[in-house]
Amino acid sequence: MVSMNYDVAIIGGGNAGLSLAKQLIEKNLSNNIIIIEPIEAIEKKANWCSWQENRAIDLSDDSIKGLWDEWRIIDSQSSVHHTSSKYKYVCRDAATYLNNIETYLQNNGVRILRDKAVNVSKNNNNKIILCNSETIHACHIYDSRAPEIDDTALKQHFVGIEYELEKDVLIDKYATLMDFTGSQDDGLHFIYALPLSASRVFVESTVISKQLNASAWYEDQITGWLERRGMKTNQILSRESGVIAQEQIRITNQITHRIGAGGGATRLATGYAFHNIIRQIDLLIKNIESGDYDVPLVMSKFTINMDLLFNKVLINNPSLSIGIFTQTAKALTGDQFSEFMLNQANINIWYKVIKNMPKSPFLKELTKVIGVRW
Ligand SMILES: Cc1cc2nc3c(=O)[nH]c(=O)nc-3n(C[C@H](O)[C@H](O)[C@H](O)COP(=O)(O)OP(=O)(O)OC[C@H]3O[C@@H](n4cnc5c(N)ncnc54)[C@H](O)[C@@H]3O)c2cc1C
Repeated sequence: MVSMNYDVAIIGGGNAGLSLAKQLIEKNLSNNIIIIEPIEAIEKKANWCSWQENRAIDLSDDSIKGLWDEWRIIDSQSSVHHTSSKYKYVCRDAATYLNNIETYLQNNGVRILRDKAVNVSKNNNNKIILCNSETIHACHIYDSRAPEIDDTALKQHFVGIEYELEKDVLIDKYATLMDFTGSQDDGLHFIYALPLSASRVFVESTVISKQLNASAWYEDQITGWLERRGMKTNQILSRESGVIAQEQIRITNQITHRIGAGGGATRLATGYAFHNIIRQIDLLIKNIESGDYDVPLVMSKFTINMDLLFNKVLINNPSLSIGIFTQTAKALTGDQFSEFMLNQANINIWYKVIKNMPKSPFLKELTKVIGVRW
């Protein structure tokens, strides 16, 4: 079996793995990098969305599918409408985004091995990745494989479908982040909808619960939502699905450094990971520049503990859960909401969020975890 030596080996060429390799090249930190990734970037089916400051958005970026400075959170009693002058909610096509980085990396001498890592081991200072086709030796290994999720863990699970519509519709100016008006019988459920153009819409059915639903269930919610709005569809353009842990993951392997969602970059209360991964890689690169190859924490312990507390209140108080989302959103302006979602909340924003939480269930859950985590 072929055996090759590298300075840095990256397992998984998703957002985290490719972003790390790109920055290592851009900052001249290594020119001997391998990425082990079984799937071509262009095959990855997902819309990745997050908030971004207006001045940081590159409008020539061909992976951007939509930009909104207005969004809504809706329940059967109220609708919270945010606008922002500073931030936009940006939707990117994952395949185009990743393919652009892969092309850059290949043009800059990074090897992408289309294979799977099967085992990782260590022999003195030499770290070894066994793949199906060859063995890789490396000084540093970064592992970005997705974390394993326990059956019993609280999770966000979803199916999203992008449709071409039968005829053009008057396009909403806003993104629907959460619409809770549909079924709540099988877990806390909301519809997420992005009007991509007059003839194209992306609709996702998301459930927050411990148990996954059958895939037909999410599809029924999506078609029901479209029907209620009189939107007739011509064809399905793409389909995506996912499961994201809303509990802390166990990082077990001591040989590799974990990055990305597998390295704790997912916000536990929201499931958003995109901007955290970008920030995690920025922080890691700063470490590497000073000779430290460890991955820094991307979220503060305060944010992690507040998110865990929030999730406990949600799961233990189903009758309050929808109100908690809408009340939190109502307490904040569009700019503040964006900063909260981006983990950039200051004391004033946290104060507004905490002040609007239902006091008794929060205090009850807080007393349960106090002394264990804080
Ligand atoms: C469908 C979907 C939509 C999402 N939408 C959003 C969103 O809108 N906003 C947001 O913030 N977050 C979103 N997320 C969360 C998402 O997890 C992150 O944004 C991001 O994809 C995580 O990047 P990553 O590099 O950590 O992991 P991944 O993108 O999962 O990359 C890990 C890579 O490891 C590879 N791999 C697996 N096993 C092996 C192996 N044995 N050897 C080598 N390689 C292997 C996989 O093929 C994969 O490419 C979404 C997730 C999914 C699944």
